[in-house]
Amino acid sequence: MHHARKRFGQNFLKDDGAIHAIIKIINPSADAHLIEIGPGLGALTLPLLNYVDHIDLLEIDRDLVAYWRAKNLPGVQVIEGDALHFDFVRWAKNSINKSIETGTEKNLDLGRRLIVGNLPYNISSPLLFQLLSVAPLINEQVFMLQAEVVARLVAPAGSADFSRLSVMLQARYEMEQVLEVPPTAFEPQPKVNSAVVRMIPRTLFSLNKHEWRALEKIVAAAFSQRRKMLRTNLKSYLERLAISDTELKLRAQDIPVSRYIEWASSLAKTS
Ligand code: SAM
Repeated sequence: MHHARKRFGQNFLKDDGAIHAIIKIINPSADAHLIEIGPGLGALTLPLLNYVDHIDLLEIDRDLVAYWRAKNLPGVQVIEGDALHFDFVRWAKNSINKSIETGTEKNLDLGRRLIVGNLPYNISSPLLFQLLSVAPLINEQVFMLQAEVVARLVAPAGSADFSRLSVMLQARYEMEQVLEVPPTAFEPQPKVNSAVVRMIPRTLFSLNKHEWRALEKIVAAAFSQRRKMLRTNLKSYLERLAISDTELKLRAQDIPVSRYIEWASSLAKTS
């Protein structure tokens, strides 16, 4: 018997309908390269194994790692570790090499690289930021998160949920909320609603390292005091950026992602 550990955000999925829906959303093919963050007791892992030849499981809880190692299921590789410190880029590169060795990379639909999981809610935002580094190397992420976080991820500019997280993640991924899941679907039940988000890295993404850093800086500054106008929050950028008088009277949440990207590009040129 495993007792759910609060410090690891352990709310295990138990609702078959929700589990089935999530597997359908992940849409696994036999030779997909899948890594699941936090397999827990396998609510998603076991059904996924009906479709995929292999899966990597990244789990922080030693007891659960031992549980999976004892099962010794074919095609399952268990990695003990903290997702916040895991090298996802290396994982993706290894997967690409395996695809090339087996020839699956020739067919673009095969050998897709996916990162999935019912994520521990206490680390979801830092984890999403960390995963940005592997975006160029993967095809898709499917995550269960707190509904409130998913609302921020997909929020359009001008809405109250539009935040620093929205801008940075929307700049890099196409995102869509694909499912809502109530607390009753879990054991133990969380206090909040959950939702599933599909994240597909943008293929036309063209920001270089300097532009991305500039984007991080300007977005952090713009949202530093949510209620203040950009005239105040972007004070130190006014000489270097063409911000219109109308924009100066707006707040950070009213500016579309595309405009932040324009500012980041010109900022990168001037610094
Ligand atoms: N996938 C299972 C399910 O849906 O029932 C469990 C989901 S539970 C919300 C989160 C899982 O992530 C747990 O197995 C927990 O031990 C694991 N976990 C928590 N923090 C982690 C971290 N930093 N790195 C890797 N796994 C973590």
